[in-house]
Amino acid sequence: MRQIQMVDLKSQYEKIQNEIDTAVLDVIRSTQYINGSEVKKFQEDLENYLGVKHVIPCGNGTDALQVAMMALDLKPGDEVITTSFTFVATVEVIALLGLTPVLVDVLPDTFNIDPESVRKAITPNTKAIVPVHLFGQCVDMEPLMELAKEHNLHIIEDNAQAIGADYIFEDGRRQKAGTMGIVGCTSFFPSKNLGCYGDGGAVFTNDDELAKKLRVIVNHGMEVRYYHDSVGVNSRLDSIQAAILRIKLQHLDEYAAARNKAASYYDMAFANHPRITTPVRSDFSTHVFHQYTLVIENLDQFALQKYMGEKEIPAMIYYPVPMHMQKAYQDPRYKEGDFPVTEKLSKTVISLPMHTELDDEQLKHITDSLLEYLK
Ligand SMILES: *Cc1c(COP(=O)(O)O)cnc(C)c1O
Repeated sequence: MRQIQMVDLKSQYEKIQNEIDTAVLDVIRSTQYINGSEVKKFQEDLENYLGVKHVIPCGNGTDALQVAMMALDLKPGDEVITTSFTFVATVEVIALLGLTPVLVDVLPDTFNIDPESVRKAITPNTKAIVPVHLFGQCVDMEPLMELAKEHNLHIIEDNAQAIGADYIFEDGRRQKAGTMGIVGCTSFFPSKNLGCYGDGGAVFTNDDELAKKLRVIVNHGMEVRYYHDSVGVNSRLDSIQAAILRIKLQHLDEYAAARNKAASYYDMAFANHPRITTPVRSDFSTHVFHQYTLVIENLDQFALQKYMGEKEIPAMIYYPVPMHMQKAYQDPRYKEGDFPVTEKLSKTVISLPMHTELDDEQLKHITDSLLEYLK
């Protein structure tokens, strides 16, 4: 059996090695390392794929969130509502910009932000909502978009984990994750569904004015060279990464299908187990399985992780500590017990290997081992 990886980037690369190697060498020989034609072409390819007017590439997913909030002119004191169950970057940039993060609980089935809790958290200072499409499945956007409209709030989608997923509206219309809010943010970190071979990220919007502002902000607040009209940052996608992403984007839907195939294998193996809850498939979203995450009742996650490790199976706990329990984000407004769903999930979730290269032999070893442990 091939060694099992949490994400098997090597086997994936080997299948497209010739194309990738040629594209990377072409960039090196072109010497257009920054803002080269590959970046522009990737931007256009991604705009077409997502059906969005503007893609603004940047340095990474965390920068994407930061520049989005800067472009929307959010100011210290403004409240930004987001989820307590996410990767730290979402909350980090809110804090970094001196904005006030307002955390809300998630739904137990999708792990995604609860629109009802968002409604209750809105105050006169609320300026934006940051839904995170966690683990590869869309937040239920329609109620959230109605709320945003009603209260005149910006929606900034954190789409680092769900690129390629479709949100399905009540009327059957479909839209790509990350293109429904005023702005969407993504990451091309190697292990993400559309990952490059280093750091990368992008911001999406259909708003022409905002796109213009975003392009200025990622480039030192500069529209005309050496004239700086606003304070910006330096956040770029480099040409080598763009060339790699152009190739991988062509495979993104096929990669999502491969992930879904592995997910179905897991689903079948764990169906009807009294202690295991397999990931829900919402009728309002497709799933691109950035992670395959189980909830297991009465579990010592770390003991299970150790046992799986002994069987040479990586398993991860995303995320063991809710945002309101993190040392850096302690806040007198929040205490243990405030977000019971998040808190329970943080103690009962475990993510299994999930990538495009899992074969049946590996999947059988993973599912057999886990079921054996729970006997
Ligand atoms: C990965 C991730 C980010 C940050 O992306 P980077 O490219 O690593 O900066 C932000 N939000 C979520 C939910 C993520 O998973």
